[in-house]
Amino acid sequence: MRLEGKVALVTGGARGIGREIALAFAREGADLVIWDVNPQESEKTCKDIESLGRKTLSDQIDVTDYAKVEEGINKILDKLGKIDILVNNAGITKDNLLLRMSQQEWDAVINVNLKGTFNCTKAVFRPLSKLRYGKIINIASIIGIIGNYGQANYAASKAGIIALTKTAAKELASRNVNVNAIAPGFIQTEMTAKLPEEVKKKMLEAIPMAKLGTPQDVANACLFLASNESDYITGQTIVVDGGMVMV
Ligand code: NDP
Repeated sequence: MRLEGKVALVTGGARGIGREIALAFAREGADLVIWDVNPQESEKTCKDIESLGRKTLSDQIDVTDYAKVEEGINKILDKLGKIDILVNNAGITKDNLLLRMSQQEWDAVINVNLKGTFNCTKAVFRPLSKLRYGKIINIASIIGIIGNYGQANYAASKAGIIALTKTAAKELASRNVNVNAIAPGFIQTEMTAKLPEEVKKKMLEAIPMAKLGTPQDVANACLFLASNESDYITGQTIVVDGGMVMV
């Protein structure tokens, strides 16, 4: 198994892409910590992970709250002894055209997506440095590379995550900690299921592979970055989008 004996923390891991990443890690032997603001869904995901024979720890932690994040990291170190892998996956959207976008819409998205990633990365910096081992994987988006109508806040947060990834990779490289990002394209989740048919049709026309991705496609890339197979890769962004954006 590729993650035997590892402890992984997935933020926003209760549902959607985060849940799929957590399950993929568990199938490869990792114990899992799920942080989310959704306790019922977290409990369900933890039960599914435990049925695979792995240990779980779940905490209702809002990644925007640094004091809570630090407390949560200390709890993991106390209960599970270490953290090997952090996946910064928690993310939200609050779309609006720039002209109409409110301060609240801007702040909310930047806070969860970008500040949340900063908070969790900062809180694991010392424990991973001491361990002289670690994998940090940040879930960005192709929107952070190409921008999108109505998503100034989201695009800026995801572009910020890509820049943060490169900086953290440089600062942690000497400690044997890899920091990489994944930029998914359009993935089949509750978020994309709600889109009008016309929008979905337009999206499919822009994807050379002519299909949406699945949470499992993102989890597969994440598994690679969490495993020792990616030991010589750091500061990179892997695009998982069926060929939509070729950089
Ligand atoms: P979901 O909304 O399905 O899941 C996100 C999870 O994060 C939810 O459980 C949510 O809780 C939780 N969450 C929200 N805010 C916080 C917070 N402040 N602290 C902790 N947890 C929080 O999203 P997806 O699975 O679709 O997306 C996961 C990641 O992938 C996001 O970063 C997203 O931007 C990115 N992404 C998704 C794409 C897609 O097509 N779906 C494409 C590109 C990137 P609650 O249920 O209460 O909201």
